[in-house]
Amino acid sequence: MSNNDWQSEQTKEQGKKNILWGAIWCGGGTVVTVVTYSIASGGGTYLVAWGAIIFGAIQLIRGLMQLQDAKPPLTPGGENKEDNQNAADYCTYCSERLYSGMVYCPHCGMKVNT
Ligand SMILES: [Zn+2]
Repeated sequence: MSNNDWQSEQTKEQGKKNILWGAIWCGGGTVVTVVTYSIASGGGTYLVAWGAIIFGAIQLIRGLMQLQDAKPPLTPGGENKEDNQNAADYCTYCSERLYSGMVYCPHCGMKVNT
């Protein structure tokens, strides 16, 4: 497993955590809002609950973006390649994206065949 794979695994794990915590904050904020609304106690608690919902929503979106950023694992045979309309290839050393005609990987500098 290359260093790059490890990094995108880390990003994926972080993304999952952000989605989880985002959902918890969002759900918790909603519950607090509904409870305080039914009790109809006062304005202050509303603000706190809305803060939690917004905070959770932002974290959820960040997590989703991190999951999208994480590159899909490379499969031999290239079945997993998406949007390769530019005859794109991936470096066998660092998994960075390459384009046809490249002799050296711009990311890790290893010689590649495209
Ligand atoms: Zn490379």
